[in-house]
Amino acid sequence: MVRRQIEGRGVSDPRVLTAMRSVPRHRFVSRALASDAYKDHPLPIAAGQTISQPYIVALMAEAAVIGPDDRVLEVGTGSGYGAAVLAELSGSVISVERHRKLADSAARVLSELGYANATVMCADGSQGHPPGAPYDAVVVTAAASSIPPHLMDQLADGGRLVIPIGPPSFSQNLTLVRRVGDETTSERFCPVRFVPLVEDA
Ligand code: SAH
Repeated sequence: MVRRQIEGRGVSDPRVLTAMRSVPRHRFVSRALASDAYKDHPLPIAAGQTISQPYIVALMAEAAVIGPDDRVLEVGTGSGYGAAVLAELSGSVISVERHRKLADSAARVLSELGYANATVMCADGSQGHPPGAPYDAVVVTAAASSIPPHLMDQLADGGRLVIPIGPPSFSQNLTLVRRVGDETTSERFCPVRFVPLVEDA
């Protein structure tokens, strides 16, 4: 999976490649889909949601330039797979999921696999998670029409936000936003297709 789907498409950060080799992806899908877990596409999980294609998980992790002591916020826990990859790379991860069933199941698998630095919260992640802020990196795994202001507010100076921006039923642009002081720069780097970020408020 890593050599062909991920390195083969240009992801080169050795820490990201090691993380992608370390996380047992089959543990984050149903038993019936376990034999498809390392294939080059997204897969269905509970509540009508999806676990992203491995390459996209790696691409987002690389774009977020995560250091070993970083505090990371993930919005959209889904299966918990992305949170495990982020936990391999960072000091701590808070991952927020709005579906209780997914949040509980992700928390259980992450705990069984020993990811003591990953915490799953059941809440509306478009609000971020203010008690853990500021975050060195925020990774959003659901598509928003524009950059959610709460997530920008919770980004540390020097922090990176990686988020698919665009209309929910079409393809979106994977976007990297960097904050330096009061300035932000934003860069689109790849078309992607994600489930919508639900804004409950
Ligand atoms: N990173 C996941 C894939 C997530 S799919 C994985 O590795 O499996 C996107 C997830 O975002 C879905 O589970 C969906 O329920 C969740 N989501 C959508 N809007 C949300 C919101 N406002 N707050 C928290 N989670 C949200």
